[in-house]
Amino acid sequence: MKALDKIKSTLLNKQKKVEEEIKLLDEDDPVNSEAPAESSEPGTDSWVADTHTRTVAIKETLKETLNKIKHALASLASGKYGKCENCGKKIEEARLAAMPTASLCIKCSKHPQFAKR
Ligand SMILES: [Zn+2]
Repeated sequence: MKALDKIKSTLLNKQKKVEEEIKLLDEDDPVNSEAPAESSEPGTDSWVADTHTRTVAIKETLKETLNKIKHALASLASGKYGKCENCGKKIEEARLAAMPTASLCIKCSKHPQFAKR
């Protein structure tokens, strides 16, 4: 199916971008940097800690996105893509176009007990 091919390439592109972003974040994380900071002004330690905390938080979000992408790609491979994982009904095409990683239909995604998925 053409529509699925398009979604697959969208997902693959997104996966690549997210993986690159994670890599860049790792490089930017001062905790990972081998070279000592050039300026050893007071307050640098807290800057390192703050930046590290922020980097970790962003990375967690990116990893979650990456997991969703991988999950969607796995569903595509097994032919289960586009079905709501809760009620089994077809997920609205417009929803998949806007959010290719959606694994729940609009109705189920509005249920608070599923909203986190
Ligand atoms: Zn559903």
